[in-house]
Order: sequence, then C-alpha cells, then structure tokens
Amino acid sequence: MKTPAKKQPKTPAKSLRGTLAPDRIAAILRGLDEAYPNVVCALTHRSPWELLVATILSAQCTDVRVNMVTPELFKRFPTPQKMMLASLPDLEALIRTTGFFHNKAKSIQGAARKIVEEFHGQVPQTLAELITIPGAARKTANVVLGVCFGEAEGVVVDTHVFRIARRLALAKRDTPQKVEQELMRILPQDRWIAFSHQLIHHGRQVCDARKPRCAQCNLEQLCTSKDKTWSS
Ligand code: SF4
Repeated sequence: MKTPAKKQPKTPAKSLRGTLAPDRIAAILRGLDEAYPNVVCALTHRSPWELLVATILSAQCTDVRVNMVTPELFKRFPTPQKMMLASLPDLEALIRTTGFFHNKAKSIQGAARKIVEEFHGQVPQTLAELITIPGAARKTANVVLGVCFGEAEGVVVDTHVFRIARRLALAKRDTPQKVEQELMRILPQDRWIAFSHQLIHHGRQVCDARKPRCAQCNLEQLCTSKDKTWSS
C-alpha cells in the first residue's frame, strides 16, 4: 500500500511555537527512546484479527483487563468465521468485565461478519477499509495498521497520548482527532507508531493522569506542564 504523500506542515498555533522547536522535539523523542527502547503493543494478540478485537474491547477499559478476557474469548471463537456465528449472550458473558459489553459484543460480531463477507476472512490493510468495520474507528484502525502491518497512516491518540502530548506542549487542542493532526504535523512519520506506544507506557508508568511522578520522569526538564508535581 502506498504511503500517503507528506503534507507540508502548517504553522503551529502561536502559543506552541517555542515549544515546537525541532531541537526540543528531538530531545523529547530521544528521552522516550532512552526510557522505552523496545516498546511493543500492550494488547496481547497473535494475529491482526485478535488485535482488532482486543482494540475494540479496550475502549473505556484497561489493556490489562482486556488481556484477561481475550484468551478465553479466542479459545472459544478463534476466527472471524466462528465469532460471526457465536450467540450474542455467549459473547457478552465472555467480555462482560471490559464494560459496555452489549455494544462491544455487537461490534466484534459485526466486525467478524464484515471481515468474512467483504474481506475474505482477512483483516484489511488500509485505513479506508478498516474504518468501515463495525467498532473500528480511526484509532483502532491506526493501532492495527501500525502494529500488524507497519503502516503509519496516523498517530494513535488514546487517553495517555492525548494527556501527555498536551502536558509536553506538543499539542494543545481539545479532541483526540485534533491532537492527532497536531502530532502528525510535528513528528517525523517514521516515529508515529513508536511514539504512541512510548507515550502509552510513559502514561502508565510515570505520567499518571491524577498524580504524575515527575521526580522520576526523564523528560522533566523539557516539561512545563501545570500538572507537574515536582520541578528540578
Ligand atoms: S514532568 Fe511530569 S507532567 Fe511532565 S511528562 Fe514528566 S511526568 Fe508528565
């Protein structure tokens, strides 16, 4: 699949200009590489199909919780063909603890049906096709494309990426979609996939939503967030 032509970066918002200096961005990326050199996707999976389902289940739920339910789910329904034929109550019972289980069961069954009926049983490899799958919005599509197919068509902006990108003043807008656009403008495309994984790990281990552990953060000297709990 062709990688889309890179757009010319637009001029960043006035309030971010100083913080988006190439040297500063490079220093942040270096710091993330040092802290999280070998990051991988935290959702356990053995195939694009399993990652797609796990990502749908991860909405409003922790990856740890998703990883607790998917082994049994995939044992019972290992393929899109089998999941398409599952009963909704069976699916709901298996994924109940991930929350919103009525909707999620419908989504993963709908995803299975779509993949069987329109994509020959294989998870498609383009953003345009992936976002037609029930339950798979742009974020889910970006996760699958980046992790399984090495395609960087966007930056995955989950709750951790959204929060930390703003704390580090790499973005300032107020929706994940807008923050993704800001990050795509300032980050080299070959960093889009790793950057998301690194920020997700940073959010879990250090830059907590309620109480960031700034004294342990190797980006502390580059961060001027008002949420900081410690300053050198
Ligand atoms: S210094 Fe604190 S607020 Fe800033 S990125 Fe590090 S942990 Fe997060």
